[in-house]
Amino acid sequence: MAYVFPPAAQPSVAVNGSDKRFPVRRIFCVGQNYAAHVLEMGGDISKPPVFFSKPGDAVVKNGSSIPYPLSTSDLHYEAELVVAIGKAGVNIAEADAASHIWGYGVGIDLTRRDLQYAAREIGMPWDMAKGFDRSAPCGDLHAVADTGILDAGHIRLSVNGEVRQQSDISDMIWSVPAIISKLSDFQALAAGDLIYTGTPSGVGQIVAGDRIDVEIQGLSGLSVTIT
Ligand code: MN
Repeated sequence: MAYVFPPAAQPSVAVNGSDKRFPVRRIFCVGQNYAAHVLEMGGDISKPPVFFSKPGDAVVKNGSSIPYPLSTSDLHYEAELVVAIGKAGVNIAEADAASHIWGYGVGIDLTRRDLQYAAREIGMPWDMAKGFDRSAPCGDLHAVADTGILDAGHIRLSVNGEVRQQSDISDMIWSVPAIISKLSDFQALAAGDLIYTGTPSGVGQIVAGDRIDVEIQGLSGLSVTIT
């Protein structure tokens, strides 16, 4: 088969301790999944978390320099546990969710907060606030075979060495199995999908020159610089 022009390269993420890479298909995200963050955003913790998505090629590797994005003056970091899906499924039961996990990584859900607030005000979609170019930094993935199931452990983000977000992944409103189960009621999940599982409180602005470091207990860290 011939294409009218060469297809784009397959987005992928490095795998800890391996030469092989994880091929990224889609990026799904969970919003409002830590109560303290819902409250700092002026949200309602009685409402369930929400799903949104980013393009697969928004993924950015560890150590990258990221140009300050277009059309914003309020870029925010959001530290998140990333779950990498390794097995397809639809209507997955929570009890079966673990068998669909390939591994885990450390991510940042970069957000154009000004565009998100503007969209929220008029009831419009978040796409331009969330799904922009290079909006999904992701550290090296660790196979679940190496880490075991991650359901607790600290998550911490610092900007220029100063801690801004500090929580524990056990504080999620929807656990990882619940996320996989609920998301698979809307979408047939496939190997290669990444799920950004939501951010704790302490989100804030970053500007050109800032270095962001994220760590999650048991995973290799993620560092990016805004240029
Ligand atoms: Mn987020």
